[in-house]
Amino acid sequence: MTAFPEAPYLLADPSRYGHVTLLGAGPGDPELLTLKGAKALQRASLLLYDALVSEEILALAPPTAERLYVGKQASRHALPQEQIIELMLRLARSGRSLVRLKGGDGYIFGRGGEEAIALAEAGVPFSVIPGLSAAQGAGASAGIPLTHRDHAGALVFATGHLRADRNAVDLDWQALARPRQTLVIYMGVGTLPIICRELVAHGLAADTPAAIVERATLPDERCLTGTVTTLPVLAARQKVRTPALIVIGSVVGLRPLLAQRRREITELEACA
Ligand code: SAH
Repeated sequence: MTAFPEAPYLLADPSRYGHVTLLGAGPGDPELLTLKGAKALQRASLLLYDALVSEEILALAPPTAERLYVGKQASRHALPQEQIIELMLRLARSGRSLVRLKGGDGYIFGRGGEEAIALAEAGVPFSVIPGLSAAQGAGASAGIPLTHRDHAGALVFATGHLRADRNAVDLDWQALARPRQTLVIYMGVGTLPIICRELVAHGLAADTPAAIVERATLPDERCLTGTVTTLPVLAARQKVRTPALIVIGSVVGLRPLLAQRRREITELEACA
């Protein structure tokens, strides 16, 4: 279990605060980290990292760098978001520079915005290095161009996260069900049946192609394709687990032509 540092001595002079680098580690394949990200890691002396960051990426930091796991994953020691922010501020105010590593891009469903706001308000110097988001990784490796002139002129990233207080997914279904757009849903494995049902109820054609990409860009990536009607059953049958992304829209139909040779499970195979 990681021991989190006790409150270090805080500096009174903000010009001596440490610098925080908010770094997006990319979708999974360590080679998809940016060059700028790799350089920041090579210089790092302290890392605060989340669950979806690979060992290979952590290994780019010098062996002497301290590595603190702060991510959210039930089985591992982790900190709630407010405490991550508190820890980051405390370290920076004690003069320690650090790299805050997150999966994908920190500003896309990564709570990087909240962390940047806290740093800005506290007067801690920080910079943001973007990462490829899971959607971009999944699109490329699963053979699904997220936009295409003949299929989708808009691309929407949405969260499928269930609001515990209302036991509902709080989205603008009317807007999401519009034609000629691609919808990418993060954190939607558990709510896939609700998502598909609501989209069809709000006018999306029941035969709209849909895919779920599990562990995109990693060696064991799986992609299941069907329609908004069939995908929930298929995903349940194939026991799709997080992290996975849902992609909905006619661009999914391009996959048979564009997919790289990866494990493919079609409706037919899954039903056999
Ligand atoms: N900041 C991240 C998203 C964090 S939210 C980004 O920009 O990608 C976590 C969700 O991202 C997961 O529930 C899943 O929906 C998605 N995700 C992250 N990595 C993924 C991967 N390798 N394959 C599929 N989905 C992934």
